[in-house]
Amino acid sequence: MKRGLAAPICLTWELTYACNLQCVHCLSSSGRRDPRELTTAEARQVIDELHDLQVFYVNIGGGEPTIRGDFFELVDYAVERGVGVKFSTNGSRLDAAVARRLAATDYLDVQISIDGADAPTNDAVRGAGSFAMARQAMDHLAAAGFGNFKVSVVLTRHNAGQLDEFLDLAEGYGAQLRLTRLRPSGRGADTWHELHPTQAQQRQVYRWLLGHGERVLTGDSFFHLNALGESLPGLNLCGAGRVVCLIDPVGDVYACPFVIHEEFRAGNVRDPGGFAAVWRDSPRFLELRQPQSAGACASCGAFDACQGGCMAAKFFTGLPLDGPDPECVTSGDDHPLVGLDPAGAPRPGVDRSWGTTSPVQLTRNMRR
Ligand code: SF4
Ligand code: SF4
Repeated sequence: MKRGLAAPICLTWELTYACNLQCVHCLSSSGRRDPRELTTAEARQVIDELHDLQVFYVNIGGGEPTIRGDFFELVDYAVERGVGVKFSTNGSRLDAAVARRLAATDYLDVQISIDGADAPTNDAVRGAGSFAMARQAMDHLAAAGFGNFKVSVVLTRHNAGQLDEFLDLAEGYGAQLRLTRLRPSGRGADTWHELHPTQAQQRQVYRWLLGHGERVLTGDSFFHLNALGESLPGLNLCGAGRVVCLIDPVGDVYACPFVIHEEFRAGNVRDPGGFAAVWRDSPRFLELRQPQSAGACASCGAFDACQGGCMAAKFFTGLPLDGPDPECVTSGDDHPLVGLDPAGAPRPGVDRSWGTTSPVQLTRNMRR
């Protein structure tokens, strides 16, 4: 798997950069739509390609994907072509009728994002009113009998103590909790230093995941914590460009959703040969599929378990890719970030943030 597969097993497709919220850690700095976004016809063509590559499902996100007028057309088309859809939403457009429609569609999963188990914790990150909006969407899904939807949480310093509450909230709906590591990507590059969990919290989270991990989806979020001992459930390696990739709203293909930067851009689905050629032949991806140097981690006894951590986290904090993760749990006083000037770190790609308008006002604007 380290050398890459014929097709990605974890493909994220961000349908639009438009979003009615302005979460402070948004990995794609979303807000305003990009006029170059793929048209409906181009998006359908991408789905045809995914079908031909036998991609079993795609993670759809954004921005807020349901803002696209052709969102349901594309979801229906993907499902019709045998490409299952899991989509992430802030819930703002998920009313009772939409919930019934979703519940009646096969091969479809929905993930509602919250970043606090209560309104004050959540709204500090996602904007005023966003917790109530997300809970209402969950209520609608439950009432429509959707069943096992996902409650998606990005772990921060402020919610790391709420893991039991998150689990209760999700399971109270018959849903499943998904926990994701905060990466310094997009707007997260500016907020990561104050939001990422402390070393003590990382240890607590590790212990909590040892006890509850089988009930929680984590993807590849926490394999850097494996350095603390027993390996956690989940994907225990960085699959960027090998089993993971991202198609962004303008068709650019990146090694993973957390590395939207020219350095990791492999091509565009509009290029000759389309997505398949980018995935198969792009020099960037071919390079990522070669064995990577362990660098300064080579002498660490935990390397087999931790693999040096997350490439995106290293890149956007200005650390070498072949060295320790910025949240390395064994580095103690030699913390990889000590003495590093954050101003020297690479900046994320284009910022499509709205500016200073409040999220509530933005929600009103988007409904007009
Ligand atoms: S760079 Fe980080 S987020 Fe991206 S695939 Fe690798 S481990 Fe996952
Ligand atoms: S030094 Fe490298 S391999 Fe060891 S725990 Fe830290 S990040 Fe992981």
